[in-house]
Amino acid sequence: QYQGLARRSTNEVLQLYSAHGQQQKLQRSSVVTRLHGAVKKRLKKDLKSLRSFALELSKEFQHQSRTYLYQVLTAVREIQLQNEAMQMFQMKAFDLEQSLQEVTERYEKEKQKRRALHNSLVELRGNIRVHCRIRPLLPFDTAAGHLVPQDRQRNVSEKVAYAVDDETVLVKCSRPGHASINKTFQFERVYSASETQDIVFADVAPLLTSLLDGYNVCIMAYGQTGSGKTYTMLGPQLEENFAFSLEDESELGIIPRATQEVFRLISEKPPGSYWVEVSVVEVYNNEIFDLLAKDSCGKVFGVKRDVVTTREGKNDVPLLTHETVENASEFLHLVNKGLQLRARHPTLVHAHSSRSHLVVTLTITTIVSEDNFGTSWEDEQTTQRLNKEGFCTQKTRENKSTSSSRASSPAQLEATEKLKQVKTRLQLVDLAGSECVGMSGVTGAALRETSFINRSLSALADVLGAIAEQRSHVPYRNSRLTRLLQDSVGGDAKLLVMLCISPDQKYLTESMQSLGFGTRARQVQRGQVKKKNCPVPSKAK
Ligand code: ADP
Ligand code: MG
Repeated sequence: QYQGLARRSTNEVLQLYSAHGQQQKLQRSSVVTRLHGAVKKRLKKDLKSLRSFALELSKEFQHQSRTYLYQVLTAVREIQLQNEAMQMFQMKAFDLEQSLQEVTERYEKEKQKRRALHNSLVELRGNIRVHCRIRPLLPFDTAAGHLVPQDRQRNVSEKVAYAVDDETVLVKCSRPGHASINKTFQFERVYSASETQDIVFADVAPLLTSLLDGYNVCIMAYGQTGSGKTYTMLGPQLEENFAFSLEDESELGIIPRATQEVFRLISEKPPGSYWVEVSVVEVYNNEIFDLLAKDSCGKVFGVKRDVVTTREGKNDVPLLTHETVENASEFLHLVNKGLQLRARHPTLVHAHSSRSHLVVTLTITTIVSEDNFGTSWEDEQTTQRLNKEGFCTQKTRENKSTSSSRASSPAQLEATEKLKQVKTRLQLVDLAGSECVGMSGVTGAALRETSFINRSLSALADVLGAIAEQRSHVPYRNSRLTRLLQDSVGGDAKLLVMLCISPDQKYLTESMQSLGFGTRARQVQRGQVKKKNCPVPSKAK
């Protein structure tokens, strides 16, 4: 029984136990279901809010993209409008540019016409053309004491002379303790520091055409030492010898360029109708030195010469060496030789070339037929003299066995009676420095040099003054320089004075003096310059 009871109670326990297990199982699955339900509910909620958020976002996105699109479209439209406006402006600018160009062209033409008229006026009045070249500031302007007297050293360079336009120089300076200066000067042409040798020569070239047309021409550079006279006339000089270098053609000055141009113009004429002779003289301490004279061995050495007045009233330097040259390089070779002599010859020793006046003369002889112009235009005496001279020259020429293209061919010799020689002259002058150097403390050779330079340049100014005032007496005889240049300055040549100016304040006094000289030269009226080989109207005689 007991065992039976125990078994029964065990079974009951087991039943109860399993019932309890089942109940527990049931209980557990209902928690999971509840939990599941809760999660599902939550998920649904979240999904719903996510969806509404996404909807909101896409709505927002659409709205914004629409706004941006609108903005882009507006911008594109604006750009299109701006492009159109730009095109219009471009067209307008093009039109304006074109009309500006037209106006500039017209202005240039008018300017040229005015220049030509002014030139004719200058010619009619027999005025002296004055061009003014302002050189750039150079390193030595700041270097203490270079070419400047001790008492005026100032180590700062400051520009006081300007080219306002191509006809006006402005000198503007105000210094403490000095009256301020603000003065303009007018000239036929003003070159600024940036204007090249090419540009300067372009204005000189027409004078060379005149030369071959039968006019005497003289070009002289005036200015203080270091202002660019030699640079303008010859080109940059080499240091030790006085020759100028030919390395850079673009740097060549008026003298070599003028010679090239003369030979170019001659090459366009019938062969043998022109020949060219050169003389090179230096006026130093009122003495004239022939820089091409040769000794018995054919060596070049400087010889003193003098000026005399011929029966025809012309000034001449007897015995002066005239070398025939056939081309520009022969000429340059000769001039270089002459220039080197200045440094070598004992009687010609002076510290630098700016202590003397250099006069290079090209004489151009033309053979013209008398039939071409009748005999009334020049007096009989001159004609006869020229014929005689022509014959002699042709003979010497034959002796020298010069080329057959020259005027010395037999056919031409036979026709001598009908031929006539006309000589025209191109004088190229590099004057000594015009600075007003004080005499105090200067002795010996330097004093002599300075006083001769001062005297010769003031004689030149006096001559110009006398001609300008049309005085009956013109004091050419006061200096050999003025006697040598008398025919050019006094009326029988187209004369161009090239004023050279250093722009630095240090040289203010000298620059004002040079500008004054140029202004005075411009006032000279000598009457119409005569052409040498055409009939001169009787009224003008
Ligand atoms: P000047 O003959 O009047 O005494 P230079 O012709 O010897 O003066 O000129 C002095 C210096 O200035 C030289 O070294 C020269 O090369 C230089 N110079 C002059 N004019 C110019 C210029 N326009 N451009 C450049 N250098 C110049
Ligand atoms: Mg010089």
